Amino acid sequence: AKQEGKNQYRFFDTSLSTNTEEAMELAGQLRRALEKDEFFIHYQPQIEARTGKLTGLEALIRWQHPVRGLVPPGTFIPIAEETGLIVPIGEKVLHLVCAQSKIWQRAGLPPVRIAVNLSARQFAQKNFAARLGEILEEHEMEPRYIELEITENMAMKDDMQPVLQQLRDQGFTLSIDDFGTQYSSLNYLKKLPVQKIKIDRSFVTGISRDRKDEAIIAAMLHIADRLNLTVIAEGVETQEQLDFLKDNNCHSIQGYIFYKPQPAEEIEDLLKE
Ligand code: C2E
Ligand code: CA
Ligand code: CA
Ligand code: CA
Repeated sequence: AKQEGKNQYRFFDTSLSTNTEEAMELAGQLRRALEKDEFFIHYQPQIEARTGKLTGLEALIRWQHPVRGLVPPGTFIPIAEETGLIVPIGEKVLHLVCAQSKIWQRAGLPPVRIAVNLSARQFAQKNFAARLGEILEEHEMEPRYIELEITENMAMKDDMQPVLQQLRDQGFTLSIDDFGTQYSSLNYLKKLPVQKIKIDRSFVTGISRDRKDEAIIAAMLHIADRLNLTVIAEGVETQEQLDFLKDNNCHSIQGYIFYKPQPAEEIEDLLKE
């Protein structure tokens, strides 16, 4: 029992809840960050494996903290979720993305679809789909240029099916992020109105190192193909990984091997090519 208690303590010690002071401080600062516009977006290109063409961008939030400098999302998103601030922060992201997309459109650049990460808290809001529709209308932005990334846990909930369908009917593209890392049921995959799955980096890093990861990726690609789902692999860093994914007909690639997430100005040069 003593051993158990110790482990438990260790476990909770690393979580945010016991690090209350730090978390509370950041939570307060998140609120201020929203008011002071300290958030901005980096965009990571997604590349078609076969052609090398740009197929889309993923929007990744960044926080320029006045004292701490750049705070990574892995540090503040969990706090934003715990405090519920993820809802206004998520809306902020969508506003920033729509505004940027319009800037590129007005500059005559070719339209590119931008993927936005959603958190469960946002998704669980009442009238979530209608709210998203309103934000896009404000920017006169067409939903087909926005892709919504949700996780398996969010997608698999029965009561979420109508929301997913509604978003799909509104014209959004839906993708399942971090595919294979949470509770997956192939039966649900059959029913979900999603068009895309994103293979998580944890599988990709196993390529040419772990035959089991390779087998899982090959199986995911095979099933996705039969279900007419587009697959994008994330966290692709090496030529070996890229070759394996190409050989197994993975549609798109996102990862440092092509591009890191970068500011809008640098993406603009890419769109001009
Ligand atoms: P994610 O959605 O799985 O995003 C992919 C993460 O992998 C990003 O980290 C990206 O920079 C990183 N990445 C991309 N390619 C590579 C690669 O080749 N190698 C390695 N090592 N990493 C790569 P980032 O930007 O730090 O974001 C971390 C997480 O924070 C995201 O994971 C997502 O869950 C969350 N997040 C980011 N932006 C938002 C947002 O606007 N809203 C919400 N709710 N969550 C967000
Ligand atoms: Ca994502
Ligand atoms: Ca992901
Ligand atoms: Ca991930």
